[in-house]
Amino acid sequence: MKQLIDKSIKELAVGLRNGDFSSVDLVSESIARINEIKTKTNSFISTVSNELVLNSAKEKDKNIKNVDNPLYGLPFTMKDIYQAKGTRTTSGSNVLIDYQSQYDSTVYKKVKDAGGILLGKNNLDAWGHGGSSENNDIGPVKNPYNLELSAGGSSGGPAVSVATRCVPYSIGEDTGGSIRNPSSWCGITGLKVTYGRVSRYGAIAYASSFDTVGPMAKTAEDCAYILENIAGYDPYDGNTSNIEVPKYSEIINNKLDYTIGVPKEFFVKGLDKEVETSIQNAVKELKKLGCKIKEVSFPLFDFGVALYYIIAPSETSSNLGRYDGIRYGNGRDKFTEETKRRILIGTYSLSSGYYDEYYNQAQKARTVLIETYNNIFKSCDAIISPVSPTLPIKIGELINDPIKNYLADIYTVTQNPAGVPSLAIPTGFSKNNLPIGMQIVGPHFSEDKLLNIGHQFQLVTKYHEIKPNI
Ligand code: GLN
Repeated sequence: MKQLIDKSIKELAVGLRNGDFSSVDLVSESIARINEIKTKTNSFISTVSNELVLNSAKEKDKNIKNVDNPLYGLPFTMKDIYQAKGTRTTSGSNVLIDYQSQYDSTVYKKVKDAGGILLGKNNLDAWGHGGSSENNDIGPVKNPYNLELSAGGSSGGPAVSVATRCVPYSIGEDTGGSIRNPSSWCGITGLKVTYGRVSRYGAIAYASSFDTVGPMAKTAEDCAYILENIAGYDPYDGNTSNIEVPKYSEIINNKLDYTIGVPKEFFVKGLDKEVETSIQNAVKELKKLGCKIKEVSFPLFDFGVALYYIIAPSETSSNLGRYDGIRYGNGRDKFTEETKRRILIGTYSLSSGYYDEYYNQAQKARTVLIETYNNIFKSCDAIISPVSPTLPIKIGELINDPIKNYLADIYTVTQNPAGVPSLAIPTGFSKNNLPIGMQIVGPHFSEDKLLNIGHQFQLVTKYHEIKPNI
């Protein structure tokens, strides 16, 4: 079925201004589609009342001709970790199940000020702890391509909202793959930004030195429009950068002339054959588009999982200390088994006697990882990597096997400790019609180049236009 929300952000913006359709039409389509999808896929935790969103759309329709911003009048959703006054913000956990936001996160404020209309908050792995949107008190998010499979995580709900065309885009969060993994398993495009590019203020913290806020949408072009609106310095987040925000939506039109590295260590046993073939074909496409392709080495990349699963739990054990049942929500007994495991691992790694052996050691490994990236980017502009080593996995398989669960993150946990950006884009489908994606990783603040590569690739491929039949 053809929908308005199949259109790109740019097409929607033009259509609204030409009077081909209205913001009320778009929001009405979103409401209807969310009602159709939400129970089947369990992708929403809450929705905003029809009256509120339709009134907001009517207001936007009155002004549309006077406003340039392409996000004006467009519906969107957010992962349920972002504070938005007037909404419940649960982080997928019974600890915060009735918690009402007291203020607006910066990302929400920016999108709202740009004219975005929040339709709902999406399901996830509680606190971002997971890669399959199963570790929560809401139930798993189901993959719209096959409801027995996981949508990926932890931003599974946002990915499903975009893949099923409930909204043109969603705001996700990525600490070790949470935007990229569900984007790839649901066939959409997701951008993990450079640490500090987008403010984290008002985002429920998982691991503060890894957490990033970013767009999830159908295409790199759409991500460019969203990033232009949400990036930039914020006095409420001391780690945001005041490096100027480029005009991403213009830079993406450049012809490609980059050197792209393909790390030989990434394409080994353990990587699904269909995923590997799909990425190799994508690399050939990039070559046709003018990129120079070169084999590079990413030594010791497999130690990423070990260092990530020491530092992230350490930071989360500290961040979750505030949920004592007195100031916020319910008591600590409401944490899930997986979250308790992470609090225990983190507390152990930080405790005196083990600190040097674990936390300190992991921080040293992090420095080596940063140097590895710095070295690679001396000889190439970006590198290609799988997102997930496998196709979408059956619900239940990862959550019941913690080691397998952590190892599934092998390709996505090195970028966050290094702070570098990465764009996940669809590269094809398996013979069972499951989406496959790859990531393009670049040096700090190279979002413009990554989006440029992603957009040029999407101009000559059609994978991003395909949607699940649900
Ligand atoms: N799967 C990873 C984890 O469980 C990443 C999660 C995320 O990026 N929020 O930690």
